[in-house]
Amino acid sequence: MSKKINRIGVLTSGGDAPGMNAAIRAVVRASIYYEMEVFGIYRGYEGLIEDDIVALDARSVGNIIQRGGTILKSARCDEFKTTAGRQKAFDNLNARGIDALVAIGGDGTFTGLHAFYQEHEMPVICIPGTIDNDLPGTDYTIGYDTATNTVVDAVDKIRDTALSHNRLFFIEVMGRDSGYIAINSGIAGGATAIMIPEENMTIDELVARLDKGGKSKKSSSLVIVAEGGRSGNAIQIAEAVHKKSPYYDTKVTILGHLQRGGSPTYFDRVLASKMGVYAVEGLLAGKTDVMVGIQHKTTVYNDFETIMVKSNEIESEAIRISKILSI
Ligand code: ADP
Repeated sequence: MSKKINRIGVLTSGGDAPGMNAAIRAVVRASIYYEMEVFGIYRGYEGLIEDDIVALDARSVGNIIQRGGTILKSARCDEFKTTAGRQKAFDNLNARGIDALVAIGGDGTFTGLHAFYQEHEMPVICIPGTIDNDLPGTDYTIGYDTATNTVVDAVDKIRDTALSHNRLFFIEVMGRDSGYIAINSGIAGGATAIMIPEENMTIDELVARLDKGGKSKKSSSLVIVAEGGRSGNAIQIAEAVHKKSPYYDTKVTILGHLQRGGSPTYFDRVLASKMGVYAVEGLLAGKTDVMVGIQHKTTVYNDFETIMVKSNEIESEAIRISKILSI
């Protein structure tokens, strides 16, 4: 039987994502519900190493479920990549009697947590918080839905100006290794073409598609470009297209960090609330060194190898649908 847990620490780490606050709130309240004490660790692993830790109660996480960002702040921390750094982190937790840790973040965060667990064997669990939806073992990660809605909203606005001037717009969205945001905002925003890292659409293929639209009297076109696309970034792609087809009046919009901000959607709030509770319940049930996920409406706890072995592949169906509809 696993040792009883008395004090849980919670932190947010890596890239911030809307819905992280809802997850913090859920971890705090579920811990209290199950009669444990709970501590918030500021600035991810950096705050853990620097002992930037405070006790939280149910009221300290009031009025945050609707807020973007993370009240605990996030950071990237190179020291945690060292054994000595992780030892400091462990000593700080030990000194406060914190005997379990919940980390909310992406694959880097889970990698750090896994290394920490292997050295110190403290019960740990990761909650997937990243706008990229690039983690396997869960249908959705916290923040992805909000970010995609933000992009669709921006695409709609850009379409208004594109239509007014018969322009060809290239809209760059986040997704260095994953085209999730791009493919689904592209479908929802009615894009003519979507460039994603998972596919290798060449400039010639893109121009052919745009020309086809031009011949069928399409008055303006929107191309969504995931930032990690193989044909370059949106500026490079727009230049290459303009070189081949100078008659296009091309414009580029890079949405950048606005995709991380904003109030989380209902979907992300509910997802984060569930995952926060499941993380605490998982720890109590003896789960450790796992990432909580929800797949086909079922709670799952995936080990490190399962999460790291592959990325969350885009459904080929989404790619097929986008091609049919962009003629
Ligand atoms: P994300 O969790 O969003 O993928 P990062 O890749 O920046 O974000 O990772 C967040 C933090 O996790 C890093 O700043 C570092 O402290 C920790 N981390 C990442 N990779 C490792 C590793 N190989 N070993 C230990 N800690 C790591």
